Amino acid sequence: MSDNCIFCKIARGDIPSRKVYEDDELFAFHDINPVAPVHFLLIPKLHLVSLAEADDSHAALLGKMLTLAPKLAKEQGLDNGFRTVINTGKGGGQEVFHLHVHIIGGGNIPPMVKRS
Ligand code: AMP
Ligand code: ZN
Repeated sequence: MSDNCIFCKIARGDIPSRKVYEDDELFAFHDINPVAPVHFLLIPKLHLVSLAEADDSHAALLGKMLTLAPKLAKEQGLDNGFRTVINTGKGGGQEVFHLHVHIIGGGNIPPMVKRS
């Protein structure tokens, strides 16, 4: 845990959030600035800065996150599919430096990359 990390504070309940899911290792909550009708974030309670800081010791935790994502997406009504996004580092557009998976869906989700 990191004292000045906003997502650690959310996972601890020190900052309010609209909780989607919680267990001993993971926490999920709705994004405050959604880009689609459903947009929530799944985080480890462990303060891991980004995917770039992950190593073999985090493999089970990361696997748990990725296998939980479709279950939570379904619970949130995303029966037709969803997008997962992990921004890593400043070059990847990461703004909050506590690893999180965006789970986004509903409405019209355009292709990520358009090739002409
Ligand atoms: P990223 O650019 O991948 O680091 O995304 C950070 C995300 O965190 C953005 O989509 C923000 O809208 C979201 N966010 C920032 N602060 C909060 C908060 N207090 N509660 C919920 N979502 C937040
Ligand atoms: Zn943190």
